[in-house]
Amino acid sequence: MAEDIMPAPPSDKPVYRFAPSPNGFLHLGHALSAFLNHDMAAANGGRFLLRIEDIDLARCNPEFEAAIYRDLGWLGLRWEAPVRRQSEHFNAYHAALDRLTDMDLVYPAFLTRGEVKAKVTAYEADGKNWPRDPDGSPLYPDDDRHRSGAERRRLIADGVRHAFRLDMKKALALVAAPLNWTETGDRSRGEIPADPSVWGDVVLSRSDAPSSYHLSVTVDDAAQGITHVVRGLDLFEATAVHRLLQELLGLPQPVYHHHRLVVGADGRKLSKSEGSTGLAALRDQGLGVGDIRCILGL
Ligand code: GLU
Repeated sequence: MAEDIMPAPPSDKPVYRFAPSPNGFLHLGHALSAFLNHDMAAANGGRFLLRIEDIDLARCNPEFEAAIYRDLGWLGLRWEAPVRRQSEHFNAYHAALDRLTDMDLVYPAFLTRGEVKAKVTAYEADGKNWPRDPDGSPLYPDDDRHRSGAERRRLIADGVRHAFRLDMKKALALVAAPLNWTETGDRSRGEIPADPSVWGDVVLSRSDAPSSYHLSVTVDDAAQGITHVVRGLDLFEATAVHRLLQELLGLPQPVYHHHRLVVGADGRKLSKSEGSTGLAALRDQGLGVGDIRCILGL
C-alpha cells in the first residue's frame, strides 16, 4: 500500500527525537543535541526517538549509521525501536510532494548550480546584490517559475535533470494568518514570527534524491508524533519553512527548542570532518561519558 502523510495519533507524553544524518561521524555538537533531547524527555516523562536522516543516498553510508548507534550507545542513551530511516519512507515524501503539486505550488527547476552561479555573478558584476537566504546561498532565479506547461513537459521529455521547488509566493498566498512558532531555546523564547519568504523557492525534491531536507523533516516530525523539536541554532531560520509546510499539509506543529552550537577552537561550528572532536576519537583517548557531559557543560 502506498504510504501517505499520516500524522501519528496524539500522544499523552511529550515526544523528542534526535535526527542525525549518517554522512560522517558524530562529534561533540551531536552529543549535545542527543543529550538535550534525551534529558528533556527523561525530565518530562517523555519518549526519546531516533531518526536516521539518510535521504542523500550518495553521501550517507551504513558505516556512518553503525557508528551513530555505537556512539549513542556509548553515551549511555537508549531510544525506542524501531528507528525511522528516511530512506525507507520515500513514498511518504512523494505523497507530500503530490499533495503540494495538486495545490499547484510546485514547479520543475532545471537550472544547475553552475547556471545559477553564473547568473548571480553576472548580476553582481554591476555592484548589485543578488538576494541570499539565511545560510548565504543565492535565492533561486525566476526563470523556471515562468515556463509554460508545454515547455516543462518538453524539457522533462528531453531528459533534462530537474529538482522540484516550492513556489513560495503562491504558497504564502494560501496561508491565511501570519505564521509563527513557539520557541523555548537558547537565543529567544516565546512566539517567533516565521518568514519563509527569506528562503525563496525552496527545494522539495532533488534531482539526485527523491525528497529534500525540509520536506522529509516536516513529514517525519508529524509521522513520528514529535511534540518537541530540540536541535541546533543553525536550524533556527529553517523552522519558518517547516511551519509553512505544516500549514500547507495540515500537519501539527511541535514546540521548537534551538540550542547553542558547540564551536571549535577557531570559534566556528564543528564539522563532521573534524577528528579531534569526534566522539570515537574522544572515546579512544580514554574519555568517559561523564567527561563528555562535563566538556559540554551539562
Ligand atoms: N539531520 C539534521 C542534521 O544532522 C538535523 C535535522 C533536524 O534536527 O531537524 O543536522
